Amino acid sequence: MAAQANHPGGTRFRLYPQAPILNPEREPEVVIVSSPAGTIGPGPEDERMYAINPVDKWPPYGVQTHRDGSPYLYLPPWDGDIHPPAFPDSDGHFDYLDEDSPEFLVAHLFGCVRFVQDIWDDYFGETIAWHSADAFDKMELVHLPDYDNSRIGFGFVEFGSSLSKSGVFSLDAINFDIIAHEVGHGIIYSTVGLPDPEGETGEYNGFHESAADLVAIISCLHFDSVVDELLENTEGNLYTLNRLNRIAEQSQNEQIRIASNTVTMSQFIDGWRREHVLSQPLTGAIFDTLIDIFHEQLLDRALISPEVEDLADRYEYQPHYQARVQEMFSNAYAGEMPAFKEALLDARDIVGHYLAETWRRLPADYLSYLQVGDILCEVDRDLSAGEYSEIIIQNFEYREIGRVPLGPQLAKLPLENHMDSSRWMSPGRWEYDTQMQES
Ligand SMILES: [Zn+2]
Repeated sequence: MAAQANHPGGTRFRLYPQAPILNPEREPEVVIVSSPAGTIGPGPEDERMYAINPVDKWPPYGVQTHRDGSPYLYLPPWDGDIHPPAFPDSDGHFDYLDEDSPEFLVAHLFGCVRFVQDIWDDYFGETIAWHSADAFDKMELVHLPDYDNSRIGFGFVEFGSSLSKSGVFSLDAINFDIIAHEVGHGIIYSTVGLPDPEGETGEYNGFHESAADLVAIISCLHFDSVVDELLENTEGNLYTLNRLNRIAEQSQNEQIRIASNTVTMSQFIDGWRREHVLSQPLTGAIFDTLIDIFHEQLLDRALISPEVEDLADRYEYQPHYQARVQEMFSNAYAGEMPAFKEALLDARDIVGHYLAETWRRLPADYLSYLQVGDILCEVDRDLSAGEYSEIIIQNFEYREIGRVPLGPQLAKLPLENHMDSSRWMSPGRWEYDTQMQES
């Protein structure tokens, strides 16, 4: 059941598992994506997508406004000049590119997107087409450094740049977490889809962000170096703050979101503003489930005793017991790294499969977090005879999902445009909306 990240006969790319700004010493890692060597042309480009580095492209794609204030829909393809594309070597690979060259950026972008697609196509058991595949033959992946955001939309994914609070500038095209997050949004548009306007809930928006983050977390666990480093640093005690639960981070000290959080639904009883914050209880419930399933894998292999597991569970949110829990893990981990790794990869793949199957079954209309949990349990019954249902139920209950209702959406913060209509607006819908406004 292991997802195969390295495909024999595939195409080689070099990818940064973590934004280089976070870890300047680390070299990019060679991965082999599923596309047979020789099938990816200059760009890179294949039958599903192409990456470009356009010259003077502005504004970003999506819903834009003319100078007279009237809106228009700006969509690919880019018809202006582009900087030189990345060429494959004579055997069809892209791993020869110098990481300081502009060609490396577009190859990195393409390689990361395909790497994430491979992982999730495997969990779904089928190729997940882009949500805009009916209207656009290929997805355009754009490196747009002047843009202070990254966004997937109809026919495009654009990657800008980030400036951290401490003033550190970094390109999203070399930030694996951000790229995987955007592909995650795309997977949800393709599988869960969009709700009808009257069926759209706040929880749908929070779910979208949560799912995108979970795609990024599970995907980064497909880099050998990430898994090794994670286990070495924590000695198997994953509740310790670590690489895994820092997502889309911009510098060593500024975490945008933390999956290993303690946010519960009570925080939103009077309302919510930002879907990223609203996503935390759901991401937390599923992240905790991943850790608990990992513990079950360790128990099954007799790598930890039931007493250790019990203590770790009981004190997971109590910092002053962490030293004792760490000591027990360190003892259990000594000399057992390969077995711990196998247990973690199994837990990763169980959760990856469960998420894929849950999203396949989840309706977009009137979506609630409780329903996500119910379907996860249903999937667990179908795939594993309910082995992990109690874990799932406990983690959803801890987050008060289904018990504390979500308050109304309060005024949006001005910069919050992650879920705006540019993400899903299609030419057909635009024409329809415009006609409705005119009539
Ligand atoms: Zn997002």
